[in-house]
Amino acid sequence: MIQAALQPSPLENNLHRLTDEIGGRVPGTLAMQHAVQWGVQAFTAAGADSVHTEGFSIQHSWSEGDTEMTATTAYQVDPAKVGGGTVLSPFRIRAVSVGWAPALAPVKHVPVVFVGEGTDAEFQKAGDIAGKIVLVHTNVLKTWDDLFGEYMKAPLIVDLAVKGKAKAIAFMATREHDILYRHTNSGEGEIDKLPQVIVAREDGERMARLLAAGNLVWADLSIPNQIGDALKTANVVAEITGSEKPDEFVILGAHLDSWELGTGALDNGCNAALVVDALRAIKGSGVKPRRSIRFLLFSGEEQGLLGSRAYAVAHRRELDKAAGVIVYDSGTGKTTGFSLGGRKDTLATAKTLIAPLEQFGVKELHTDMEWGTDHFDFMLEGVPTFVADQDEANYLENYHAISDTYDKVDFAQLKKHVAEAAAFSMGLANLPQKIGPRLTHDQVEETMRDSKSVEMFKAFGLWDDWVSGKRGREK
Ligand SMILES: [Zn+2]
Repeated sequence: MIQAALQPSPLENNLHRLTDEIGGRVPGTLAMQHAVQWGVQAFTAAGADSVHTEGFSIQHSWSEGDTEMTATTAYQVDPAKVGGGTVLSPFRIRAVSVGWAPALAPVKHVPVVFVGEGTDAEFQKAGDIAGKIVLVHTNVLKTWDDLFGEYMKAPLIVDLAVKGKAKAIAFMATREHDILYRHTNSGEGEIDKLPQVIVAREDGERMARLLAAGNLVWADLSIPNQIGDALKTANVVAEITGSEKPDEFVILGAHLDSWELGTGALDNGCNAALVVDALRAIKGSGVKPRRSIRFLLFSGEEQGLLGSRAYAVAHRRELDKAAGVIVYDSGTGKTTGFSLGGRKDTLATAKTLIAPLEQFGVKELHTDMEWGTDHFDFMLEGVPTFVADQDEANYLENYHAISDTYDKVDFAQLKKHVAEAAAFSMGLANLPQKIGPRLTHDQVEETMRDSKSVEMFKAFGLWDDWVSGKRGREK
């Protein structure tokens, strides 16, 4: 299997077509529709036994218009000198709208107020923010924990800004050198509560320094986002049918959609191409898996894991037959191991299944529960999940950014990941017994407590949905 996967393949060309030709893929756009067609064609060419799409809807479509922001400060020059007196100094702010944030009709000369990192105490210190633009300081993104923190802090900042009746929020970019990226703080395809922009780090720091020095800063801001009614999009599903237990199935998945400032190469085109190539490798090896393997390309991941959530809900009744879900969603940094979705019962078997992958550096298994990619709703349904843990490599600096393009992809590494994914999927599909049972509601909750994940669920506003039964395994 590993040898088959490492052979030359259409991997590079598939990704070229997805990223360079089609480009960024936001659900509701023609590009996303073409990406779905790409998935169907690529799976068919790779030799799938069957390929189909499964549609679902997202409650609003969203696209950015020409976001424009200009800041103005004032300084004093000796009135006796030429051009003296109070001087107004305008400068352009490079800004993009936060995804699925509401539009803002042009406003002029709005005071900008600095709220530090956006804690409750800092908002209080900032005083009256009504009708103003709040500027939030951030740190440069360096680690997975930083990224997690960025998402975790945002809901409170939005709530505080709404409570104080701010006009808009300006988040300082967490990337340097003028790089802009798309972030979203909306988790269910709903339109967020307040207009929000990401401003280039250099521009944000300039405004922050001016405000700290006592200069006044005002801004003109226009965010003409186009917001529409519910949109339809689709997941792509290919299958290799199992020889002995065809109704039981392993899922190997990655999301196909992306943000559109760049072309979504590291996030997550490379791994969509990986899923296609893993199917090709398994088919090409001539070995038939005992259970079926489903290869899934999800849509709507960036709007809140919406495609995988829709799939998990639509297939809820047959998830008793699911024999494991593997997901790749971290660019092409080396895979170091897998995260087991809070479960200890799958650890020993998983260890034996990844033993052949040690040659690639895959050796660590973690039993923590992760949020943030497409295994999530399967995990909440009690299915054993495996998310590839990967080195940061060049992922974070390009995350959701203008710079996430084909040239950032490490193909030599990606080929190894194809081999890992093919071998691990086959391993799960060929076990005498499924790697673990489907957990009941109470058992899933036990894994949340055991892995100390309850606080995380609360911070993301997911705990209430879990307890009320709106999301995850039914009681
Ligand atoms: Zn992703």
